[in-house]
Amino acid sequence: MKIAVASGKGGTGKTTVATGLAYIISEKGIPVNYLDCDVEEPDGHIFLKPEIETEKPVGVLVPKVNLDKCKNRKRCGEVCQYGAIVNTEKTALIFPELCHSCGGCSLACPENAITEVMRETGTIREGKSGRIGFIEGRMNIGEVRAIPVIKEVKKRCPADGITVIDAPPGTSCPMVETVRGTDFAILVTEPTPFGLNDLKLAISVIRQLSLPFGVVINRYQRGFPEVEDFLSSEKIPILSRIPLDRRIAIAYSHGRLIPQAVPEIKRNFSEIFYKVKEIIDEGVSGSKR
Ligand code: SF4
Repeated sequence: MKIAVASGKGGTGKTTVATGLAYIISEKGIPVNYLDCDVEEPDGHIFLKPEIETEKPVGVLVPKVNLDKCKNRKRCGEVCQYGAIVNTEKTALIFPELCHSCGGCSLACPENAITEVMRETGTIREGKSGRIGFIEGRMNIGEVRAIPVIKEVKKRCPADGITVIDAPPGTSCPMVETVRGTDFAILVTEPTPFGLNDLKLAISVIRQLSLPFGVVINRYQRGFPEVEDFLSSEKIPILSRIPLDRRIAIAYSHGRLIPQAVPEIKRNFSEIFYKVKEIIDEGVSGSKR
């Protein structure tokens, strides 16, 4: 079972939910893995404090021009749709950060002057946090392409047990790449106008992917019922309401797992787990309702 934890915007408590859920599942004696696909800012490690066993670079293929062969026919610059190759009067200049590794330039070069070389863009760290398997993707500073790193993290997803995947915030390509192919999406929101607006965006993406999903309302308090009214009108299941509680904020600021630090919150995480399991078991899709 692969469960993605996503949100329409940052700061809603997505990592709080993902790490707490992985912890609760492990407490039940069920094999569980946590994958951090929020590769621009992976912070699950702060809460899970894993022992890292391996650390491997990941990269993408980018072109390299063999100047001895290049006759400056300028085909590479014409083919590249990303401005990653600029032809000057004398040679071809490559901007590897802009390259999307399509391979078009090496195919187009009539002199076979372009080869592809590996360029490191990030790191994959693997280890253990107690009984929780831990895999994290981390982009190098200055890189702009998150998806190759996310794909590498997902490739390492163990086949057995339950996997909780921490998705990047927002609704752009990295989020889509992360949730695609999972069995269920948990959308984390907060009871504010911004929270509701971005939740609606996230729901529209998840519906297009035809994934079953439910919503966790974090920092729950009465006073902004519009989120619940909207979910009720759309018949979208609320998986849990995690209360606005100063103890949670303090535990979070100390990098502690919430269900460990505030024991009565454990029941919220168990509630999330059992509701997700029930929906998957019943084959009920929030997206098909
Ligand atoms: S591999 Fe594709 S994106 Fe990269 S420089 Fe060549 S044509 Fe441009």
